[in-house]
Amino acid sequence: MKTIGLLGGMSWESTLEYYRLLNQLAQKELGGNHSCPCIIHSFDFQIIGMLQHAQNWEELSIILSDASKKLENSGADMLIICTNTMHKLADKIKNHIHIPLIHITDAVASEIQKKGINKVGLLGTKFTMEEDFYKKKLLNDYHIECIIPSSSERSFIHYIIYNELVKGIFKKESKQQFKKIIENLKNRGAEGIILGCTEIPLLIKQKDCKIPTFDTTEIHAKAAFKQAIK
Ligand code: GLU
Repeated sequence: MKTIGLLGGMSWESTLEYYRLLNQLAQKELGGNHSCPCIIHSFDFQIIGMLQHAQNWEELSIILSDASKKLENSGADMLIICTNTMHKLADKIKNHIHIPLIHITDAVASEIQKKGINKVGLLGTKFTMEEDFYKKKLLNDYHIECIIPSSSERSFIHYIIYNELVKGIFKKESKQQFKKIIENLKNRGAEGIILGCTEIPLLIKQKDCKIPTFDTTEIHAKAAFKQAIK
């Protein structure tokens, strides 16, 4: 089995999920005492979040590319970036490594297509919801249209991600509000919901929604594992 390199710590709450999922997949698929060979580079999210909000993508690109090179040099056979948001820099990071990058959006698109859906609601950080890098790839490469919550709803989601979810705080009131936002997206024509931030699946589960949800953490981990056992 190949070794998976993880760019993690964005946040560590969701990296923990990746680590758990990858090892559980290895156990389930390979039996015995198998677990998943992987190397994690875990960042200090305080620094990452500060640079994101200062729009210092250049510095972030250098930091993430350096860590990716280190993972490659340490023996990783492939790379995953354990956050939707930082896929904003996926193309730049790719230029610095020779191992394949398993892109979260490709993995999610393939699951959406399996359901025969082509209009989805997108929840994530403001960067993911408002900028082009995520929505445009889904539209151009897969003909999947994304609709996003209203401006005040987007601010709410962003606030909850950075002030609760990345700290492992999961409040009933926040969950209720997320469910309302999902309902609004459904009423505007969303046939499914991308949980497009790797911490959101810790708060919102399929059973909380009337339409299919796409858990980007689980989908991404599964796609990487599939590649690793090829
Ligand atoms: N984990 C989140 C995501 O999937 C947010 C943290 C970050 O900004 O990287 O987008």
